[in-house]
Order: sequence, then structure tokens, then C-alpha cells
Amino acid sequence: MKATVALWKEPGGPASLEPVEIGALAAREVLVRMSGGGICRTDLAAAAGIVPLPVPFVLGHEGAGVVEAVGAAVDTVEVGDEVILSFDSCGDCVQCAANHPAFCELFPALNYSGTRLDGSTTLTQDDLPVHGSWLGQSSFGTYAVAGVRNTVKVPTRPAGLPLEFLGPLGCGVLAGAGTVFNVLRPQPGQGIAVFGLGGVGLSAVMAATVAGCHPIIGIDPHPRRRPLAQEVGATHTIDPGGVDDIDRAIAHIAGAGVDFAVDTVGSGAVVRHALMSLRMPGVCATLGLQAMKNDITIDQGHLQMGRTLTGGLEGDADPHTLIPHLIDLWRQGRFPFDQLITRFPFPRIEDALEAVRSGKAVKPVLVFD
Ligand SMILES: [Zn+2]
Ligand SMILES: [Zn+2]
Repeated sequence: MKATVALWKEPGGPASLEPVEIGALAAREVLVRMSGGGICRTDLAAAAGIVPLPVPFVLGHEGAGVVEAVGAAVDTVEVGDEVILSFDSCGDCVQCAANHPAFCELFPALNYSGTRLDGSTTLTQDDLPVHGSWLGQSSFGTYAVAGVRNTVKVPTRPAGLPLEFLGPLGCGVLAGAGTVFNVLRPQPGQGIAVFGLGGVGLSAVMAATVAGCHPIIGIDPHPRRRPLAQEVGATHTIDPGGVDDIDRAIAHIAGAGVDFAVDTVGSGAVVRHALMSLRMPGVCATLGLQAMKNDITIDQGHLQMGRTLTGGLEGDADPHTLIPHLIDLWRQGRFPFDQLITRFPFPRIEDALEAVRSGKAVKPVLVFD
């Protein structure tokens, strides 16, 4: 069948909307008619060629839509189900068996190769391969082919939460919230500092609020993001450009330091500030992607003081567990992730990508109607 996708013909180039052909589904695949697709910074990195993908390729990895068809071996969703597409995993390796699918041994092959494991592509154009399967979906298109493991059925959708808004729960929101819930695991009353208040950082702020953290300090130079952080739960915000000494500004709020820090920027300077913000011992999780290889320097003294520097991928989350939990928290009014979203019609994808680059929009969602 035919679909219209945003196609990149060269890294660094613009995307153009083009028709492609979707071939027969494999046994464990699901065809989804897209309703909405969030844009995540990893899409920008791939579009710029920082994550190498064979051309031509289709990006998009925060899809939400309705199941149009299922492969022969799919029995977890059926035609007509509302679904959210997340990252893919094999289900069989040691990490998947231990319920850490983000660390699946086949993660790169399933999510970053542009093909199925057998080398075939889900999409073609004029009988030539089009590389899809990005994060197991390539959802910047009117239809997407996903795997059964990364297709999450939406539990009864709350009134007031449109289907097209749900895609970001599949990656950016999942990553920020999962890092707090699964990696840092704060106790009520413990302090946290979040560096960078984009989609991932603000999701970490919301999860810290749910966990009862205090203080919750959001740090970002962007003037519109700090008030937004306070709306979704930050107790304090800091403009790093507006203070002489950011470490002292944090100490002014948190005294001996915060128990946890989340870095969503990935630069050496920000990781060093994040470590400096910690009390002893304290744990910092670094999530920001700068490049596939990114050497940074830290002072070993931080580690000798018992501080931990760790990282994370997809919040170490099982999408089938955490996504329904986040929707339930939204229903309770405790996780207002919809406040991060700006809608863009699908044909305006380049404007939406630019809005992420410039910081004008926190979480653009492409709408396919
Ligand atoms: Zn696996
Ligand atoms: Zn992402």
C-alpha cells in the first residue's frame, strides 16, 4: 500500500514529503495509521548525519496512531486499537529477559540500522529500498510499520488527551521520567537539579514532582522554559547566564547540595556543574547526546567523594509498563506532559524541526490529519 513519508535523501539536507510503498508485513509487525508524531533531538542528530543511517531514510520515533493491519504472529494488538510506538527490543536476550529492553543486545540493529534484522526494508520507492525501522518505526509518515514489541496499546484514553499527543510518551517523556523513576529512584524530600529544560528535562522535573522531591531546581538559559518548568513542578529555576557562579547559585538553594542531578545537555561544562551540584555522595545521570563519540573531562575528586556519574538510555524503562503509568498520572493531574506540546501539520515538518533547534518549541508534534 502507499504512504506519504518525510524522506531524507542526504544527511544534513531537508526532508521532502514523498510517496513510498509499504510491502507485506512480517509475522511480528504492525501497520499503524499515524495520528501524531513527536520530534525528539535524536531525530535532529540523525537528520544532520551525527547518527549514521543509509540514505534515503525516514525518521520519527514518537508515533501514536491506530492499528491498520497486523502480521500473522501478532496477538497483543488488533485492527482499530490505539497505540503508541516506542523503541524496539528483541525480547530474547539477557537484558530483555531481565526487563531492561533499553539495553537489549540487538538495540542498535533493531533501532538504528534502517532495515529489518534480515537486511530488508519495510519501505520502497520505485522498487528501491527506503530505510525505515528507525527506532523500530520511522513514524514521520501517514503510515508506519512497527514491531510487536515496541507497539504499546493505549489503555482507555482519558477524555481531553488527544491520541496525537501520546507519541512523546514513547521516547523523550519516557526517557526523562524513567531516569527519575528507574535509575535515580529518589525518596520524598530528596533534592534534584535538572540541567536543560527541553522535553527530557521537563519530564524529569514532572517525575521528580511525582516522587516528592524537594527542592527541584531547573537550569536553562531559555527564558520561556524556566516558567514552564515551574508550572510543571520545579520549585526553583536558574538562568545560567544570569548568575555569576552557577555552582554558588545552586548551593544558595540546596545548601550542601542536591541528592540527584540530571544532565540533558551532554557537554563537559554542564556535566561538571551537575556533579558539583551534588551533596556527598549523590548521583548524576547524563543523558544529553552531543555526538556518537564525546570525550569530556571531570574532576576525579567528585568520585572520590562518593559521587556517582551514570548515564541512561530510554530511562531504562519497559514501555509497556511505564507508558500506561504515565497516562494514569496524567489522568490524576500529576503529570501534565501535554503542556510541553506544540502541534504542527505534517507538511510543516521543516518548521517543526527548526522549532526544536531554536528552542522555540519544547516538544513539537506532527499531526497527520
Ligand atoms: Zn533483547
Ligand atoms: Zn528520542
